[in-house]
Amino acid sequence: MKAARLVEFQKPLKIEDLEVPKVGKGDVLLKVISCGICRSDWHLWRGDPALVAYMQWSGGKLPITQGHEVYGEVVEVGESVAKLKNRDKVVMPASSTGDNRTCKYCMEGDSNVCDHLVIAGYGINGCFAEYMLVPERSAIDLVKVPDGIKPEWAALSSCGFGTSWNAFTMKTNLKPGDMVVTIGAGGMGLSGIVIANALGAKVIAVDVNERSLEKAKILGSIETYKYSGKSEELNEIVEDIMKKYGSVDVVYDTTGIPEAVIPFLPLLRVHGTLLLAGLMMKGKETFPLPADLVVAREIRIQGVLMLPAQKFDTIFKLMKEGKINLDPVTYKTISIYDVNDAYKEMSEYKNAGRIIINKFS
Ligand SMILES: [Zn+2]
Ligand SMILES: [Zn+2]
Repeated sequence: MKAARLVEFQKPLKIEDLEVPKVGKGDVLLKVISCGICRSDWHLWRGDPALVAYMQWSGGKLPITQGHEVYGEVVEVGESVAKLKNRDKVVMPASSTGDNRTCKYCMEGDSNVCDHLVIAGYGINGCFAEYMLVPERSAIDLVKVPDGIKPEWAALSSCGFGTSWNAFTMKTNLKPGDMVVTIGAGGMGLSGIVIANALGAKVIAVDVNERSLEKAKILGSIETYKYSGKSEELNEIVEDIMKKYGSVDVVYDTTGIPEAVIPFLPLLRVHGTLLLAGLMMKGKETFPLPADLVVAREIRIQGVLMLPAQKFDTIFKLMKEGKINLDPVTYKTISIYDVNDAYKEMSEYKNAGRIIINKFS
């Protein structure tokens, strides 16, 4: 089978021919149908420390097949697997249990923060491949996808969309009329706009890419701001938002870029929430917080890590009912052979939405 392997950080992924993995007693083998290329895959490819640390902590090492935003078809199950059968279509939540849901967090329904967390492409070989093996300790988290869901949408649910769902329905409880500023309008940010709109909230989007902002508008952002990297520019954006809309309920960061996020904190109302879902680049792992503001307004700072497996059914229900449209969130679909071009586009922040692998020849 073809697989795109990270052999050395920042070097092109190598397309290799590998054996299809053997299935053990409780394992599940997936034929990959579609697989998003998430910004966190790009972070690991760059060798950003948080991601490398996670890979090492979870038992992974180079070379590794990357990719965690997976939608696939079950083609073989181990003898002890009762829940799934061949031809079932499934997603593996980007953050899945690694202990068969036996730790405290898994038992409370939060397997996205499992004590033995498994993320494909980090601790185990991922989905930039024709086949992916889901190990016994994580197989319980595979979520069946009903018929009628587009493959790109299913893949996106695993990480980008799932994270934003967690952010806006679990970590905050967005209500009609709430105001949100989304920093970053990539796969995760655009998904957030879709969700916030579905919940009746109003979203202002900020991004460096004009085409991403056009998509944000299509998906219902009430206002968009292009940011080209200068801090004065951000102060002007913040002033303009304050003048037009007043303070906001939620600032949602999908970029992990401190200098792009902190200027927005004064926009938060009393009891407002800063949601952090972006991952950090080397040398920019720390956010300098205006602590006086956080105290004076009792601002909540909340991290968001993907979505627990138990919460996917509602997403698929809404997709089936036509209440969610993720077509604009997909930038393009590509062959596994074009994965390095995709990383190049992502390095230049040129991709407007998610790039999804759906061909393996
Ligand atoms: Zn991801
Ligand atoms: Zn666990």
